[in-house]
Amino acid sequence: FPPLPSKAPIGRLDDNTFSRYAGVTRFDQLPISQKTKDGLRGAKMVEMTDIQRASLPHAICGRDILGAAKTGSGKTLAFIIPVLEKLYREKWGPEDGVGCIIISPTRELACQLFDVLKSVGKYHNFSAGLLIGGRKDVEMEKERVNELNILVCTPGRLLQHMDETPNFDCTQMQMLVLDEADNILDRGFTKTVNAIISQLPKHRQTMLFSATQRKSIQDLARLSLKDPEYLSVHEES
Ligand code: ADP
Ligand code: MG
Repeated sequence: FPPLPSKAPIGRLDDNTFSRYAGVTRFDQLPISQKTKDGLRGAKMVEMTDIQRASLPHAICGRDILGAAKTGSGKTLAFIIPVLEKLYREKWGPEDGVGCIIISPTRELACQLFDVLKSVGKYHNFSAGLLIGGRKDVEMEKERVNELNILVCTPGRLLQHMDETPNFDCTQMQMLVLDEADNILDRGFTKTVNAIISQLPKHRQTMLFSATQRKSIQDLARLSLKDPEYLSVHEES
């Protein structure tokens, strides 16, 4: 697979590009930045898992994703890589503000995926922050939130900032990720998530990941995704 030409246009890759990368099995075969490849190598990530193989070529091409795969199948990298690549291709900088929002059901899961983001994204220059409530000082968050490019949030804390933080600006946001969406709904965040989505720019890429597929997930998908790729993978373990 030839590398992408260095003068490849920034933005969404076309269907042609997608089909060239649809069958690859290793991260270093994907049309992604050297910075992300170096981060993955540093984290000892070489071969993609099934859900990563199925979703990454679509996600990197800018498509909306509904991904279902059981716990432990590697869903985190299936969205962290597209988040990094989206901002990289858009040449996102400090002055561009919030570019990606990742919503996670719990503080613990948010912290875990933040660690993955820091590790795989360490050669990029994006700023990222956790908005997870609890002990963290919400007043300090309010002052800094617009300086962050990637927000990793729990639903309640994100909506709190949208409602209460005067300068909170996500009008330029490019990408939304709903991680563990079934878990988010089970925790009673359906209304919160709907309120968040209603305030986000309509023109964006959205990825929704879930360990299960249920009616409530289909409802959320209808509300949040545009013409998504449905990817359901059940790995042996
Ligand atoms: P899920 O979100 O589907 O429950 P995670 O993204 O948390 O799964 O990944 C589960 C574990 O698998 C983590 O310890 C992660 O480091 C590891 N992992 C993920 N992708 C790969 C990969 N491509 N190669 C090796 N290990 C991986
Ligand atoms: Mg997960």
